[in-house]
Amino acid sequence: ATRPGPDIFETLESEVRSYCRGWPAVFDRAQGSRMYDEDGHTYLDFFAGAGSLNYGHNNPLLKRALIDYIERDGVTHGLDMSTTAKRTFLESFRNTVLRPRGLPYKVMFPGPTGTNAVEAALKLARKVKGRESVVSFTNAFHGMSLGSLAVTGNAFKRAGAGIPLVHGTPMPFDGYLDGRSPDFLWFERLLDDSGSGLDRPAAVIVETVQGEGGVNVARGEWLRGLEDLCRRHDMLLIVDDVQMGCGRTGGFFSFEEAGIVPDVVTVSKSISGYGLPFALTLFRPELDIWEPGEHNGTFRGNNPAFVTGAAALDAYWADGQAMEKQTLALGDRVEEALRAIRSEHFEDTEDPRGRGLIWGLEFHARDRATRTARRAFELGLLIETSGPESEVVKILPPLTITREELDEGLGILARAARETA
Ligand code: PMP
Repeated sequence: ATRPGPDIFETLESEVRSYCRGWPAVFDRAQGSRMYDEDGHTYLDFFAGAGSLNYGHNNPLLKRALIDYIERDGVTHGLDMSTTAKRTFLESFRNTVLRPRGLPYKVMFPGPTGTNAVEAALKLARKVKGRESVVSFTNAFHGMSLGSLAVTGNAFKRAGAGIPLVHGTPMPFDGYLDGRSPDFLWFERLLDDSGSGLDRPAAVIVETVQGEGGVNVARGEWLRGLEDLCRRHDMLLIVDDVQMGCGRTGGFFSFEEAGIVPDVVTVSKSISGYGLPFALTLFRPELDIWEPGEHNGTFRGNNPAFVTGAAALDAYWADGQAMEKQTLALGDRVEEALRAIRSEHFEDTEDPRGRGLIWGLEFHARDRATRTARRAFELGLLIETSGPESEVVKILPPLTITREELDEGLGILARAARETA
């Protein structure tokens, strides 16, 4: 307590901060799955930069690659230029991600963030199809810029900016959550309703697991039905893999397990592996109808991120099966622990839901999830909530977390849930 406290964060920084509100600490260092504040407290990290740190904080392999690159005066900012770092990244991406999966995609660098990747995907779909609307789903989260906000199913986030949903009717999400059979009848009728003059959408954008929307898991059968519907109605299928990609659900892409091949895929967050701003928009080669300069930007393709991103792919995805196996095994452990918490608080919780190392536990009592997350912070665990009412505690540790660390964090979570009951 030698420091004056986080005054400047209260007085100078905008009210718009959100994630950190329950975490009144000033963080200083981070390594692996732990963060350290200025006052010497240690925290286990079940937040992982909202999915940007799948390989942990300051991963030694990636740090070494970055230091070597900086020490040899590698290009840090090359705008759109061809650089050695870009070539190395593209080669790694082709060899470790695209080729082994037989995926045909072309790669575009849309700008530094996930929002930019979504923005480019929407623009491309509208241009390719020559149509305006894009269908998104209830509780979807796709980003904060005007276009991506227009497909984000969250009224609060859209309200201040006055952005309507691109598609006037928010889609229900039968495929998420429960065991009902995939039912696209309603959607299908809407698409066939040419008599009403309804414009056919250019694309459908979907998260295989809604991260911000409350860890809502789409069933494989439903995703296959959605892909089929898109093909039959000549709409592009965009999978937003910004949060669930890069191994979060087990496979490198979250849609692999369902056996679908989207037309367009957005990737960001953990693609640099080091928490650096970096994003990709992938699309089938025949969709590459961009004119040169039609979507540019000063920070398209971040060279230090190319370096750490390539190092991450080479280290963790050259044999992707080991990574997938480890993630699924750790995920089973999370599920088991959440089921134990649920059995203790049966009346106030839903069945845990998730895939790989993304899990959510929904609480019924108002603010209980938020109170649980705050108590967890006091006990040394960084964990966030998600869902429209912040009703879901969201478990999102680095994929490189050890079994012991995972158990320690799950123990803290169980205790926090007990103490807020
Ligand atoms: N899409 C999804 C699915 C996301 O989870 C996020 C970020 N939470 C975004 C897009 C936007 O990414 P960014 O915050 O990097 O702009």
